[in-house]
Amino acid sequence: MLLIRNIGELILFETEAAPMLNTAGLRRITDAYVTIEDGRIVALGADADCVALEWFDVVDAGGGCVVPGLVDFHTHTVFAGTREHEFVMRIEGRSYAEVAEAGGGIRTTVKSVREASEDELVALALPRLARMLSYGVTTVEIKSGYGLSVDGELKMLRAAKRLGELQPIEIVGTYLAAHTVPAEFSDRREAYLDLVCSDELMGTVVDEGLAEFCDVFTERTAFSIDESRRVLLAGKERGLIPRLHADQITQIGASRLAAEVGAMSADHLETIDDGGIEAMKAAGVVGGLLPGCSWYLGVEQAPARKMIDAGLPVALATDFNPGSSVVESLPLCMNIACTQMKMTPAECLIGATANAAAAINRGGRLGAIREGMQADLVILDVPNLERWMYEAGRNCVRTVIKNGVVVHDCDGTGIGD
Ligand SMILES: [Zn+2]
Repeated sequence: MLLIRNIGELILFETEAAPMLNTAGLRRITDAYVTIEDGRIVALGADADCVALEWFDVVDAGGGCVVPGLVDFHTHTVFAGTREHEFVMRIEGRSYAEVAEAGGGIRTTVKSVREASEDELVALALPRLARMLSYGVTTVEIKSGYGLSVDGELKMLRAAKRLGELQPIEIVGTYLAAHTVPAEFSDRREAYLDLVCSDELMGTVVDEGLAEFCDVFTERTAFSIDESRRVLLAGKERGLIPRLHADQITQIGASRLAAEVGAMSADHLETIDDGGIEAMKAAGVVGGLLPGCSWYLGVEQAPARKMIDAGLPVALATDFNPGSSVVESLPLCMNIACTQMKMTPAECLIGATANAAAAINRGGRLGAIREGMQADLVILDVPNLERWMYEAGRNCVRTVIKNGVVVHDCDGTGIGD
């Protein structure tokens, strides 16, 4: 039995609804305790009411705030190579076409991933995940999409699956072969889509249990609505839950397609319109917001306030990738959502926990502190949620507990200062 005492502010979600539409279900208990048994939260309340038996393992929270483990539900954490050259070109004002001509863009990463072995992909991702854990992230979704071939896609997803066995963060796999059309198929789009939906590739992903979701980059420069529908429905037929990269650069109806195919989330949404918001809301699709990406690219953020006020539940993720969001820190993305999207700290916490868990089909088990939920908890070195969001860019995480076990602890001594 693990007992956490001396919690300055314990944040619980009293509602079992996931995703949460607003902050009404969020409750704070000051001077609180939590007890954990067999990986589950079994009791919580005011510290004064806590009965501590002598065989309990006790963790002193030191007056820090305790929040649910964060869920980064949209990442591209498995990759090889870096693209700082492209980063500088963008600062200098070069266009997307110029960057691509100079060898930049997603195809650079595809080349690096194809050249890397599965072992190398695992070795490159492990320290990234260790840093994410240190930021309080206890569940991470990882997409394929830089292999764009049978070998490349399976290698990425097998690496992601192994990562789940090698370190404490729970890993969720997503099949994203429809990320872009690889160069060798550039004049044979149909043939590439045939491959994406084939027994050899999509079938193997399902047979080996490498992914739970099928994702498509639906965009004028990537895949059309019809092409996306074909891939998502083929995935659905094989048991892969649809999700989309939608409405990022241009508005071609991707959020409406997300509603039509019953996607669990549609992510990006920088150019979503009223019709898209209504369609997603009616179909129960979570609005996935990636504030780190627009921040990194220096472009307009998605209209988060409009979505929340319209009653569309939103979730927050890093979109961590080597091109458009080289941002591992979900708390930093939450801070960006506060300052640039005008989401409150409470809305950001819900977005990065309960709603993020709902976006990857784990709403009943992860993303909330409540009796019976899996004990994924983060002890902060600050006394309340607002102070955490207020301290932009500093790692305020002291201790991380995954499934009832302390998996990261820095004794509150200056981590990330
Ligand atoms: Zn993405």
